[in-house]
Amino acid sequence: MKKLFLCTLYIVTLSLLVGCQKPNQKFEYTVDKFYDLEILRYDVPEFDQLSLQQKQLVWCLSEAALWGRDILFDQNGRYNLRIRRACEALYLNYPYSKDTEEFAAFERYLKRVWFSNGIHHHYSEDKFLPEFDQAWFEAACAEAGVTFDEAILPVMFDPAVMPKRTTQQDGVDLVAGSAGNYYGEGVTQAEAELWYAGHKDYSAEPLWIGLNSQLAKDENGNLIERVYRIGGLYGEALQIINYWLTQALDYAENDAQKLVIEKLIAYNATGDLQLFNEYCIAWVKDLDSRVDFVNGFTETYSDPLGITGTWESMVNFKDLQATKRAQLISENAQWFEDHSTTDPKYKKEEVKGVTAKVITAAILAGDCYPATPIGINLPNANWIRKEYGSKSVTIDNLMNAYNEAAKGSGFNEEFMIDAETIAREEKYGALCSNLHTDLHECVGHGSGKLMPGVSKDALKEHASTIEEARADLFGLYYLADPKLVELGLVPDMEAYKAGYYEQMMNGLMTQLKRIELGKDIEEAHMRNRQLIAKWVYDHAANKEVEIIERDGKHFLQINDYEGLRRLYGQLLAEIQRITSEGDYPAAKQMVENYAVKVDPVLHKEILERFAKLNIAPYKGFVNPKYIVLRDKNDEITDIKLDFTEGYIEQHLRYSSDYSPLPDVN
Ligand code: ZN
Repeated sequence: MKKLFLCTLYIVTLSLLVGCQKPNQKFEYTVDKFYDLEILRYDVPEFDQLSLQQKQLVWCLSEAALWGRDILFDQNGRYNLRIRRACEALYLNYPYSKDTEEFAAFERYLKRVWFSNGIHHHYSEDKFLPEFDQAWFEAACAEAGVTFDEAILPVMFDPAVMPKRTTQQDGVDLVAGSAGNYYGEGVTQAEAELWYAGHKDYSAEPLWIGLNSQLAKDENGNLIERVYRIGGLYGEALQIINYWLTQALDYAENDAQKLVIEKLIAYNATGDLQLFNEYCIAWVKDLDSRVDFVNGFTETYSDPLGITGTWESMVNFKDLQATKRAQLISENAQWFEDHSTTDPKYKKEEVKGVTAKVITAAILAGDCYPATPIGINLPNANWIRKEYGSKSVTIDNLMNAYNEAAKGSGFNEEFMIDAETIAREEKYGALCSNLHTDLHECVGHGSGKLMPGVSKDALKEHASTIEEARADLFGLYYLADPKLVELGLVPDMEAYKAGYYEQMMNGLMTQLKRIELGKDIEEAHMRNRQLIAKWVYDHAANKEVEIIERDGKHFLQINDYEGLRRLYGQLLAEIQRITSEGDYPAAKQMVENYAVKVDPVLHKEILERFAKLNIAPYKGFVNPKYIVLRDKNDEITDIKLDFTEGYIEQHLRYSSDYSPLPDVN
């Protein structure tokens, strides 16, 4: 799952900051909060409408997903399983009152270990230290009858031992200095690099050597490759994963999907990377199945050398309604192109929309759990992407959970100007953010053309800011078009106002939350949002938009929404001109004037107002629980989802029911 930083980061930040509406108000989205983390629950809409066969497929693939949990703990650090198990045993067997400060601190630590799949923060990758001391832990374990390997004590308590999961520090041996378990003890960066250089596959359809193995040293100090496969490293887990994949074969929707599962089973059994390539190709080609999944060693961010894959799994199925929405926009791509405010000579004569698939996640596991990406873009091998394509999806039900959880954070009340704006936001905010994303992705980026002789790289370092602004403006302009009502995508001509208010407020004010005081804006999407909002603000000659002050706080006020649309349209025309003509000086001026600089006084105010809200920076999920219903002959009659399981309950259950690996692997 390539982390979708480009367009999808935009979606998540946008939706994190806005509220939205969902008919099912009773669903409890927030489950737990501790440290900088918030645990959410996600709904799985339309699961009940899947056929029994599809439900069984999802269930078998979910089992295959959950059985990999230990692998990630061990990949994240060779002591993690021992630490997790000692802590869980103490948690379950603690003989005294749990109503003490020490025990509360201990529980928080264990919750954190579960969240990070180990002892390093999932995002910063720094080791977190217990808030209880070693003496308390040792005494408590003795009282509870919990025995453990004493080697875990310095790993847990000494800040100098394994301080970083993946180090990128200059001058530090990246392999020896990282706590991650992608390399055995005593392996150095130089040794590993030499080994990979000697084994790299330079053919046209290369094997990704090292993707599924740990480089370690044998008793004579020679490097050996310990392959992740049945009979090899993590074989105990892969064997059970294969059992469930084999069960899943019986419920496959078609031959293309069957082939995907068969290739994965063969690859897990042998570790043969040729089979992995064949699996990836089969996976890309399977476009018709409603149910889809990822299961295996995938992203390579956690290996300090970026070669070995981290285990992850996600099972999902197509969200038909949302995919239809994206399709409808795509099918009308030419109409949008023809009616935009851009100069006719910059328009494409023939424009094709792109259809993004929208999916519903049904289970998250490994590196997708509890913290999760919001999009999938695989496979990673460039030659496969080029020759066979890739799949890129957004995950609507997780986004929806973020949105729902953001409600009640007090954000809207703090930053929006009045009750009417808040009410409109709650009614239409999510709809606008989804539609804007679709317009941006499905038609925005694909619109317009370059003049003859203009290079694609003409705008150089400003290219991505300008390109994102172009796609965003295309979306903003059409959000307020009666065409969307005609297509049935919005109910009325009131909805777009929520999207407009959100864009201006975010671009001028609230996105500054993610910038450190005193710093400029660097990231292209953030630049583009400020560029649009500031340009419009500066050109609002008739006070279409204003910033007003009330009790020492600043608020955005929109006086003329139609006027605001005209301004977006004007800027779209100019940004398209800059792009089509490759006008670098104009792009540079546009970015420097509007996109980069931050007003330090306003910035400080925004940060202070945010600090007062109780919003956790990082979020993760609990999964639904699959309940299999059988008749008296043991035949499966239905599968239901249960959404009542808590965070602690879930992790204790996973550790008890899905823990195949030994302490030391
Ligand atoms: Zn984009």
